[in-house]
Amino acid sequence: MERVYNFSPGPAVLPISVLEEAQRDLLSLPGLGVSVLEVGHRTKWFEGVLETTKANLKKLLNLPDNYQIVFMQGGSRLQFSTIPMNLLAPGASADYIVTGTWGQTAAEEARREAEIRIAYDGKATNYDRLPTAAELKLSPNAKYLYYTSNETIQGVQFQSEPQGSQAPLICDASSDFLSRPLDMPRYGMLYACAQKNAGPAGVTVAILRDDLLADCSKRVPTMLSYPEYVKNNSLANTPPVFAIYIVMLVTRWLLDDVGGLAKMHEHNARKAKWLYDVIDGSGGFYRGHAQPACRSLMNVTFRLPNDDVEKAFLKGAEERKLHYLKGHRSVGGIRASIYNAMPDAGVEALASYMAEFRKQN
Ligand SMILES: *Cc1c(COP(=O)(O)O)cnc(C)c1O
Repeated sequence: MERVYNFSPGPAVLPISVLEEAQRDLLSLPGLGVSVLEVGHRTKWFEGVLETTKANLKKLLNLPDNYQIVFMQGGSRLQFSTIPMNLLAPGASADYIVTGTWGQTAAEEARREAEIRIAYDGKATNYDRLPTAAELKLSPNAKYLYYTSNETIQGVQFQSEPQGSQAPLICDASSDFLSRPLDMPRYGMLYACAQKNAGPAGVTVAILRDDLLADCSKRVPTMLSYPEYVKNNSLANTPPVFAIYIVMLVTRWLLDDVGGLAKMHEHNARKAKWLYDVIDGSGGFYRGHAQPACRSLMNVTFRLPNDDVEKAFLKGAEERKLHYLKGHRSVGGIRASIYNAMPDAGVEALASYMAEFRKQN
């Protein structure tokens, strides 16, 4: 079976070693004699998977003891509602930084649950940059400050946490989770659906600090309540066993094969630079969407001179096994998603194709 280079924004490329191990376990787990798709969630085996996955995440993120990790469903989009349902009691409010489509959607969903305020909205420049500290309109009584570390569609990524707020930070890290080290004590909560950088679709990892957990409303349904997830060790109902198992394999790959998040970040920076160098050296043929200081290491977004040239670019790319490069309709153009598991060879092939295509056009 031949594989192509998968530049999809998500579900996205996974490490080959992870897929191979899953392939072996698909028929029979060693010692159990049942498939990973058949195994019960109340078994010793799955208890081990949960504990190992949490321990791996804790080690990778250097997570202090006053944080809890839970595994939820409903994707990142359900978190858009779950967060205000848990944390915004009647009368309480939170600040939202909107730097792209996902932040915008999160703010819209939060408004269905509570009063929220927009601390910044980059819509005027079609979300091509991040706010400066001076541009943030922070309210003194905000329960939390919400932001999206990497806007997957626009390709705009925070290089460090937003400054100046007394409120706990809540971060949607869906598309750059585990791509670099984080200063976790700065966060009240951080969450990510797995299907960009951490596993397959079906599970969302949420990491919460104890003081936020203590502050959660008791009135939300059990299946949306963060404290209930902690209390039940994410086992109040049947969790997505297979998806969590793959997250375990991915975190093991990051620890053992990659050597941790600092190393992962180095690889990611190097890969992204190959593409941005081609864009910057193209004399305006390729036009990056994000302003240079705000560029994402995960999703590289750019335009070509016109729609016809873009179509020809995509066609030629597929002939070279470079797939799923079409940008989101709201930005247009090309989006190369080069998450952790995208091999160097894939990015090299894309960079040399881009250089060659420019010469021919
Ligand atoms: C993909 C993505 C989402 C939506 O995730 P779902 O699991 O499909 O709900 C939200 N935020 C960001 C930053 C994303 O990249």
